[in-house]
Amino acid sequence: MRRVLILGSTGSIGKQTLDVIRRLPERLQVVGLATYRDHKTLLAQAAEFGVRLTGLIEPPHASPSEHIPFVGVEGLCAMVQCAEVDVVVVALGGAIALKPTLAALEAGKTVALATKEVLVAAGEVVMRVSEQFNAPLLPIDSEHSGAFQAMLAGRREHVARLILTASGGPFRARPLETFDAITVQEALQHPNWDMGAKITVDSATMMNKGLEVIEAQHLFGLKLEQVEVLIHSQSIVHALVEFVDGSVIGQLSLPDMRLPIQYALLYPERVDTELPRLRLEQIGQLTFETPDPARYPCLELAYEAARIGGTMPTVLNAANEVAVRAFLQGRIRFTDIARMVEQAMTAHQPLPATLEHVMQADGWARALLQEQKPI
Ligand code: MG
Repeated sequence: MRRVLILGSTGSIGKQTLDVIRRLPERLQVVGLATYRDHKTLLAQAAEFGVRLTGLIEPPHASPSEHIPFVGVEGLCAMVQCAEVDVVVVALGGAIALKPTLAALEAGKTVALATKEVLVAAGEVVMRVSEQFNAPLLPIDSEHSGAFQAMLAGRREHVARLILTASGGPFRARPLETFDAITVQEALQHPNWDMGAKITVDSATMMNKGLEVIEAQHLFGLKLEQVEVLIHSQSIVHALVEFVDGSVIGQLSLPDMRLPIQYALLYPERVDTELPRLRLEQIGQLTFETPDPARYPCLELAYEAARIGGTMPTVLNAANEVAVRAFLQGRIRFTDIARMVEQAMTAHQPLPATLEHVMQADGWARALLQEQKPI
């Protein structure tokens, strides 16, 4: 029996994790639940699963602490270290998940990571702590789960290239001159995946794939030039690993996050939980193309941040979090997201990515952009 704590239990990944656990009652048990501020859903989940450990980053004003013992980021850091926890699912939105992730790794817990922002903001620090405390870090991100599985076909030192696929989002074929008019509602219509609002907008700008390139670099210890992106609009092939002999191993499945979640929670076991199966004859064809840089400037910015290194990816990520929130609130245009990220990167003087520098750079970028007037 693996005892699981979920950070971000009320979000899309959190709810799908609970669905996976419901299907596997003999193997998985929920022992902890935490979220940002949705305490009603949190308490309902805690009641359903009989969970004692609950946490909220931002408690409601009316005294919640009698029902919710762990409060604030520091509360979550204490919660993940409790003795009854084996695996911590990190699915909180954004770099706010960094400290609880480090706390879990420092306590030797297995971390199943959905929040890619943690590795983008502080990949070097996180991978070092994972190694130092012998705490496994398993990806939940579907492309990285696919890459992790495909890499088992050979030795890590024999990996030549990793290809991450991207759906291209809802604007893959939209005329470029109409991008300024993109509405929030249009950006939230993802063609294949059912996800939270932030990652859906990131998929539309393809910043999501840029963040995933950086995430992959850290997770698999690859050079930037070894990680490539192809648009694959069917979202069936999630990652392809090319070995030095030219053999390419891919991972294919229907776009359903419950599979990578289940794989991370049970690794290295596999079980049949009756998820829908891939039937290639129903898909018909699989297509691949190179992304157009003019259509996806955020992808280029992410590669640029990764090339510069140090705290530049931290700033890329923080600026993107601020910009996507502003877009979702109707304060800026879709095309301003890339502009805001570029502006923060241009103003930033990168430093080596120590934890202290990362925290400073993250705060610096958020302060810089939130002081701006809405456009
Ligand atoms: Mg992904």
